[in-house]
Amino acid sequence: LSFAEAGLHPVMLDNIKLAGYRVPTPIQAYTMPAVHQGYDLVACAQTGSGKTAAFLIPILSKLMGKAKKLAAPRPNPATFIPGVSQAVRAEPLLLIVCPTRELATQIFDETRRFCYRTMLRPCCIYGGSPIPEQLNQLAKGCDVLIATPGRLCDFIDRPHILSLNRLRYMVIDEADEMVGADWDQELKKIMSGGDQNTSQIKYLMFSATFNKAARDLANHHLAMDHCKIR
Ligand code: AMP
Repeated sequence: LSFAEAGLHPVMLDNIKLAGYRVPTPIQAYTMPAVHQGYDLVACAQTGSGKTAAFLIPILSKLMGKAKKLAAPRPNPATFIPGVSQAVRAEPLLLIVCPTRELATQIFDETRRFCYRTMLRPCCIYGGSPIPEQLNQLAKGCDVLIATPGRLCDFIDRPHILSLNRLRYMVIDEADEMVGADWDQELKKIMSGGDQNTSQIKYLMFSATFNKAARDLANHHLAMDHCKIR
């Protein structure tokens, strides 16, 4: 399968060319049709396999096609927070959860590359960095949110900051690293979509290994009724 054959949005095809990617890596060739057809998916993938683009390319391409329909009504119902310059009410369409600030930053850089010349606005939040700055980022608009689990739960718990009501896709990257670092409860809460009905959310889970905790998470949250991971 080539990028041209994968049914991608024309702007995405341009951005792939700008990134200098000519041929999909095996994991990309596997995920593009699966996302196109609307499946949840679980993939065993190492760093260096091209896994970041494997989820970003097909998901962002789908969102580009729906950008007008999904555009947030403006102005949003918002909260004003002392020290934060603008109203905050982020309602991302795509949420990517990953274990570390370094990985979040890498994913953010690649997301910016693929969102070039679109209406999709990426944001990145992680622990160990001042909260007001990140709230300011969210306030500028956030369609794609890349987050580490602790900071994400902190923001979900604050009223009127972050809503998962518009969410269409959730990616759990390096799931084994997160369950291994005792983020199980946070992940369960995040994957339950806060207060909203999760039936409109497609889940993609990437992990280098699938230990019991990672398998349990996948089996519980992903639509794999006929195919449990054992
Ligand atoms: P990742 O596994 O997501 O960390 O990606 C590893 C590296 O491969 C990154 O530097 C990507 O920019 C690069 N990459 C991903 N997909 C492709 C592709 N189809 N062609 C060339 N380079 C790629």
